[in-house]
Parts: sequence; C-alpha cells; structure tokens
Amino acid sequence: MDKGSESFQGAVSAAVPGRRGFDYLVVGAGFAGSVLAERLARGLGQRVLVVEKRPHIGGNAYDRYNDDGILVHPYGPHIFHTNSADIFEYLSRFTQWRPYQHRVLASVDGQMVPMPINLDTINKLYGLNLTSFEVEKFFESVAEKKDSVRTSEDVVVSKVGRELYNKFFRGYTRKQWGLDPSELDASVTARVPTRTNRDDRYFTDTFQAMPLHGYTRMFEKMLDHPNIKVMLSTDYREVADIVPWRHMVYTGPVDAFFNYRYGKLPYRSLRFQHVTVPQEQFQPVGTVNYPNDYGYTRISEFKHITGQTLPGKTSVVYEYPCAEGDPYYPVPRAENAELYRKYEAEAEATANVTFVGRLATYKYYNMDQVVGQALAAFKRLEQRHQAVTAS
Ligand code: FAD
Ligand code: UDP
Repeated sequence: MDKGSESFQGAVSAAVPGRRGFDYLVVGAGFAGSVLAERLARGLGQRVLVVEKRPHIGGNAYDRYNDDGILVHPYGPHIFHTNSADIFEYLSRFTQWRPYQHRVLASVDGQMVPMPINLDTINKLYGLNLTSFEVEKFFESVAEKKDSVRTSEDVVVSKVGRELYNKFFRGYTRKQWGLDPSELDASVTARVPTRTNRDDRYFTDTFQAMPLHGYTRMFEKMLDHPNIKVMLSTDYREVADIVPWRHMVYTGPVDAFFNYRYGKLPYRSLRFQHVTVPQEQFQPVGTVNYPNDYGYTRISEFKHITGQTLPGKTSVVYEYPCAEGDPYYPVPRAENAELYRKYEAEAEATANVTFVGRLATYKYYNMDQVVGQALAAFKRLEQRHQAVTAS
C-alpha cells in the first residue's frame, strides 16, 4: 500500500466519529488547495480530503533537500513577496521568516547588469555616468510614443525605446513564451518595472521574505489538522466517485476538468536542469537572466535565496521553456482569455465545485495573489455555510 492510500484508509472513520465521508474534496495541495483545506478545517470545522497527484504537497512551491544537502526548489526559484499585511500575517501562522530581497542581473553584451533596468544598468551598459535626472531624459529621448499600450512590446518600447527592448526583453520573451512580445498582453512585461534610481531589487513589495525552514515545512503546518487527510500520488478522478464528499475545491487546470470541451488552453511549460557544482558560490546574485543566448532563460542559485550556508558546494537550476510538459504558466493574450471565458462560464455553472488558483482560474498569479484568492473563496464558502446552518 502506498503512503497516500495509507493515510486515506484511516481517514473516513477517523475524522468525525459517526459521520461518514468528507465535507470537502480539495484537489491539489499547492497554495490554493492548502489554504482552503486549512481554513475549512480550522476555521469551519469541516472534514477535508486533499487529493494531490504528485507524490508531495506544496504544488510548484514545494522545496526539498537534495542529495547534496542543499535546499532546492524542484519547480524553479520561488521568492515570496507581497504588499498585503493580511496575507503575510496569515502565512505567518505557519512559518517564521528570513528576510530576503531578490536581486537579478542580466547578461547583455558580455556584461552582467542590474535587471530591472535602472540607472546603473544604463551607465554600465553604455559606459556613462548619468544622474537620475539625466537617465530620465535619456529614456524620454529613446521612448517610442504609443497611443495605446496594448502588448508586451508596447509596454517596453514606450518606456525605454527599441534598442533596450531588443537587448533585454525581445529575446527573453520569445524564449520564455514561444511568442513575440507583440503577441502577448501588456501585463506580462509590465511585471518588470523601469527605474531611474539605483534600486536593484527585483521586487519592491513591503514584505519580502522566505519561509525560515522552507515552503514544504510551512505547508506541513497548514495541513496538520485532525480534520484534514492528505492523499498523495492520486488523481482526484480515481477517488471522486468512491469517496463521499459534498463540495469540491478544484485547483488543477480548468480545461482538463471539463475534458477539454472547448479545446486546450495553452499553458507554457519548463524543463528544469538542476546542477550541484563544487564551488562555494556560482554567481553573484540569486538569479542571472540570459535574454539573448542559450536555450535557458535564467540560472538561479538556491543558497542566495534560502540563506543556507554550506561550504564547498552550491546548487543551481537552469530553466528551459518548452511547449509540452507540466502546465506552469497561463499564457496572457486575448484569444486565450476568450477561450478561458467559456470554461469560466462552465465553472460558474458547476455549483458544487469552487475553482481556485493559477491553473483553475487561468491567471498569471504570484503566490501571494493565490493566497489572497483562496482566502476570498473561503469567505464565500463560509457565508454559504453560515446561511445553510442558519436555515
Ligand atoms: P499549483 O502550485 O500548480 O498547485 C496545483 C496542484 O494541483 C499541483 O500540485 C498539481 O499536481 C495538482 N493537481 C492538478 N491536477 C490534479 C488532479 N487531476 N488530481 C490531483 N491533483 C492535481 N510566485 C511567486 O510569488 N514568486 C516567485 O518567485 C515565483 N516563481 C515561480 C517560478 C516558476 C518557475 C513558476 C512556474 C511559478 C512561480 N511562481 C512564483 C508562481 C507560483 O508557483 C504560483 O503562484 C503558485 O504556486 C500557484 O499555486 P496553485 O495552488 O494555484 O497551483
Ligand atoms: N522579461 C524579459 N526579460 C527579463 C525578465 C523578464 O523579457 O530579463 C519578461 C518576460 O516576458 C517574462 C516577463 O517579463 O516572462 C515576466 O518576468 P518575471 O521575472 O516576472 O517572470 P517569472 O518569474 O514569472 O517567470
């Protein structure tokens, strides 16, 4: 018997004596599923079965110690940042934090320069000594005026002009998405700001920190409740018709849920190449982006990100974008939004299922946004629960 079915065997009778089955079937143990399982069990006293098809909890934020004893993120580097005190406080119930501000360099024209583009990027790239005021004038002089900023190309060329766009964004985006920036919504490259000061942090959010003992430990604490049972290595379709439940929370891809009724929603995938090298440090910062060379977009070094100290070796991950594979990124562009709207309408008409998370709502969300979305979904379920119990 595998670990997953073992935990399930005890579950049906163990949760609440005298009551069979579960109140909620939660599909997926990532941020969306784990937050909802936690809230439903701890906040509402509901009996929850979490079914996860991977052999671990945490979704794409899962981390683990590799064979070299280094804490790595198997699904690529995950850096926590948020402007929401509520979201930060909520997660702080399950973890302590280590302050961490992510820094990124881009390898361009044979140099490593700060990304997002800032004053130092321009001075280093062109061998200049401009002030903030002068660099602002420089951006104005090269920016292409646009009547409307619709695409990911528009966003960048309207701010920093075509040359910098070509150096920093065009190649990276074509690699990452398999599309030209002109074919992607403005929101994609708008994630990366342009600065005229020397701030070289990737994010400027109020709260920037990593879970002190890693994401997986945080998820373990969230799911550690007598009303929550977790079944790993199991597709929900294997159990949904066997185990009694009243309401489902679904966090997998929305098109898969409806058997691709309207066709496949494009999700961009990645191949991760993890390497441990016999060096104290591999690169000067957490991530180095390679917009114009190689098949990978970026290399991230975990010791920078987690703060782990370990002599003589370090682990890095290379990200190779690809079309096939696990669905990692919804692809923000008009035609996909239109297709998603059809699935969204089906989802809204499916009364006993709540769709939450990056895959189920087809939104290019960061972790904190998924937590916020899950807490909002919980509020709606709580109100419905209170209305039912009052009547
Ligand atoms: P997921 O984490 O994808 O969880 C969904 C779960 O459902 C998965 O575990 C899946 O196995 C399971 N599932 C799917 N179908 C089924 C099924 N049929 N049966 C059972 N289980 C199923 N965000 C940040 O804030 N900062 C970052 O630095 C950052 N870096 C990222 C780097 C990469 C490479 C990627 C891909 C994402 C990054 N993100 C980052 C985004 C972050 O990963 C997501 O916002 C977050 O993990 C989404 O949580 P989720 O629960 O919606 O989805
Ligand atoms: N991007 C780019 N060059 C870079 C960094 C980002 O062109 O050096 C573009 C690219 O399209 C990328 C998007 O901006 O997909 C968002 O970048 P972010 O770092 O937020 O991507 P994520 O961490 O979500 O993969």
